[in-house]
Amino acid sequence: MTVKKKRLTILGSTGSIGVSALDVVAQHPSRFEVVALGAGSNAEVLARQIEQFHPRRVCLQSEEAAKKLKGLLPRNGVEILCGAEGMKELARTKEADSVVSAIVGAAGMEPTVAAIEAGKQICLANKETLVTAGQFVTAKVKEHGVELLPVDSEHSAIFQALQGNDIAKVRRLILTASGGPFRTWTKAQIEKATPEQALKHPNWSMGRKITIDSAGLMNKGLEVIEARWLFGLGPEKIDVYIHPQSIVHSMVEYEDSSVMAQLSVPDMKLPIAYAIAYPERVPSGLAFLTVDKMRELTFESVDHEKFPALGLAFEALRQSGSMPTVLNAANEVAVDAFLAGKIGFYGIPDVCAKVMGRHKAETLRSLAHVREADAWARECAEGLVGGKN
Ligand code: NAD
Ligand code: MG
Repeated sequence: MTVKKKRLTILGSTGSIGVSALDVVAQHPSRFEVVALGAGSNAEVLARQIEQFHPRRVCLQSEEAAKKLKGLLPRNGVEILCGAEGMKELARTKEADSVVSAIVGAAGMEPTVAAIEAGKQICLANKETLVTAGQFVTAKVKEHGVELLPVDSEHSAIFQALQGNDIAKVRRLILTASGGPFRTWTKAQIEKATPEQALKHPNWSMGRKITIDSAGLMNKGLEVIEARWLFGLGPEKIDVYIHPQSIVHSMVEYEDSSVMAQLSVPDMKLPIAYAIAYPERVPSGLAFLTVDKMRELTFESVDHEKFPALGLAFEALRQSGSMPTVLNAANEVAVDAFLAGKIGFYGIPDVCAKVMGRHKAETLRSLAHVREADAWARECAEGLVGGKN
């Protein structure tokens, strides 16, 4: 039997998730086809991806990068778009069945919304989309009757552990976190951590922003908010355990005291493959789990003293409305400032806490209101870190 190929658009194709997604596609040429690719500014990598995967159209963030790409592909008939409007247009590409949303940061939200409005299935890696505008994004998903499938490994694990079960019988979602490079450091050591040290994640190879988010557990905080919108459960039903081996990707506890978990070696190709092939399972190319890898699986509680960012995210979720939008935007500015050497590692949660403290959570009225709250928080955070990065 010949299966109809699934046609994919990948937003953020030159990033860590984008490259892994293309790797999965390359493993299954009879199952998937790439119709559109979008990226930030890396024209060289995009040019190579175009030669390998033959999308019909592509988009880069700036006109300059798009020009450079044109120069690299003199005789290729691919349509080249650019800018934020171009990215939304790309996300709506008629031929695509599904959009892998893997741009980093709140910049990924508008193209993801454009894809939902165009009726595309969404494979969501860009957690900031749900953190910044969860209420509207999930409402749009309902309105347009599209599927929203998690790519984030914790949410994929939960989604898998929920299969065949009733969400109403869930007592708790337990997100696991590796604890990052500073798990065993003292507060005084973390205080002095350099960007280079924070960028050395023990288990996962990822983009720079999420790697810094992971080092301070802000990533887990953003994931708690993401879980709230994906699964419709409030903060009182979401817990976080530290699990340094990153083999158990998350768990669901049910009313009958059962706990369902999903395990694998840590590699994003598995949750990506699960999302893009859903509801089928296809080989992901990962190594299989051996008893050696499973000999030691340990769990610890979070040290909130050492990692205040997680508590900030829970607080933002409890206050809800515009507060998660504000936390997300402040965090993006603070992470950039830390990477630029303008603030120390604890400057990140400090800036977030200060910006949250200056904001009163409001009920979000529209996507325009989301943009407004995001812009206000960025400006406020930029003031605190000493100007725009
Ligand atoms: P990355 O920095 O490696 O890649 C980001 C991609 O987005 C690149 O292609 C970049 O060119 C593009 N991009 C950046 N800014 C853009 C803009 N304004 N407009 C258009 N394109 C832009 O990041 P990543 O690690 O691949 O993460 C992508 C998203 O997936 C993030 O939201 C992250 O939280 C989430 N995620 C990543 C992982 C992982 O293992 N890397 C795991 C779970 C979730
Ligand atoms: Mg994750």
